[in-house]
Amino acid sequence: MEMWYCRVCGLDYDVSPWGEDGHTPDYSCCACCGAQFGIDDYNVVTAQLFRTAWLAAGAPWFYANLKPAGWKLAAQLPQIPSAYH
Ligand SMILES: [Zn+2]
Repeated sequence: MEMWYCRVCGLDYDVSPWGEDGHTPDYSCCACCGAQFGIDDYNVVTAQLFRTAWLAAGAPWFYANLKPAGWKLAAQLPQIPSAYH
């Protein structure tokens, strides 16, 4: 199975929140950055805006209880798809 990476923060997902066709977002929120799929990651501009604000806030986990022990922001950011940098 191909991994899917959040366009805002780079968190990896087993299943794409954009649906099998890549065009049907489920409008859920990223567990890490809190971006709402289909809105905050709609294009590179919205992704950059959301990312900038999230990083400025200290990159908090949206669902803090899902934050893995030893999580490292610097290791995750390179996973952001290049089209959304
Ligand atoms: Zn994210």
